Amino acid sequence: LAKQEGRNTYRFHTQALSDAASQRLQLETRLRRALADGEFVLHYQLLIDAQTEAPIGVEALVRWQPPAEAMVPPAAFIPLAEETGLIVPLGEWVLQHACQQGRAWIDAGLPAMIIAVNLSVRQFQSGNLVDLVRRVLADSGFPADRLELELTEGMLMEDAEQTVVTLKALKDLGIRLSIDDFGTGYSSLAYLKRFPIDKLKIDQSFVRGLYDDLNDREITATIIAMSRILKLDVLAEGVETEQQLAFLRDSGCDYYQGYLFHKPEAAADVAKRLAETRRSIRMAVIPDPE
Ligand code: C2E
Ligand code: MG
Ligand code: MG
Ligand code: MG
Repeated sequence: LAKQEGRNTYRFHTQALSDAASQRLQLETRLRRALADGEFVLHYQLLIDAQTEAPIGVEALVRWQPPAEAMVPPAAFIPLAEETGLIVPLGEWVLQHACQQGRAWIDAGLPAMIIAVNLSVRQFQSGNLVDLVRRVLADSGFPADRLELELTEGMLMEDAEQTVVTLKALKDLGIRLSIDDFGTGYSSLAYLKRFPIDKLKIDQSFVRGLYDDLNDREITATIIAMSRILKLDVLAEGVETEQQLAFLRDSGCDYYQGYLFHKPEAAADVAKRLAETRRSIRMAVIPDPE
């Protein structure tokens, strides 16, 4: 009996494994087709200036919209896209699309905003990232100094010599560089000083605990102080509450991003919001009668 049970367990196990494998394969096939069929869309989340509380830019965030199905968030397909290498053509599409959208907003009379685009380590190591960015800027006519590429700490640790060369070549194009999810990886101060980085984005896991977790408060305050010393801009991700905002304001954080201000939205909704905030900014500069 035990022998039989053992065999059944084994069979069950391999069956489960091959189900998972075939599901992955199916998803991979669907993702490839989705890219060819134009089923990916970009949403944009406003980045807020701490001084004025006005938007200074947007982060482009990819979503998958299969026809007649619910929108799929990046967490459900980016990992597989990275494993399979599909992230390279997908990332190219994201960069092109974001820069075209940015150009269209400028042409529509909106102020030239920063557009932040997430990069995958696979794109960073692809060997033609610099050429790609140069070509996309030229084709779209989007101003280089408005494009910000978001890197992660993991990218910066591998092969430091080549990394410095790539980052300098990107900076020579005139674009901006930030480190996303900062604090979750292993950046040393020496690396931060050596790499031509413009901005740190404090990971939302620290921001989440700002109200009641002493460690998160100290880590966040330290990253902000460190940014001051290294002359980097600093942004807090995932700002959801007034309490978090109050702490960040007291700590001297430069920029905010989070649901307290805006959720990621489709391009048309962002444009409407920008037109509105522009009106409210104009109203806000009328001096108080005193
Ligand atoms: P990320 O780059 O750190 O982007 C910020 C994520 O936090 C976004 O999730 C955004 O919707 C979410 N977020 C913003 N404010 C808040 C808030 O106040 N509270 C909470 N709970 N979440 C907030 P999203 O859009 O689901 O993207 C998840 C991740 O997927 C991104 O994290 C990024 O690592 C990756 N990703 C998204 N688009 C791309 C892309 O085009 N290329 C690559 N390589 N990765 C991407
Ligand atoms: Mg990001
Ligand atoms: Mg990220
Ligand atoms: Mg992040």
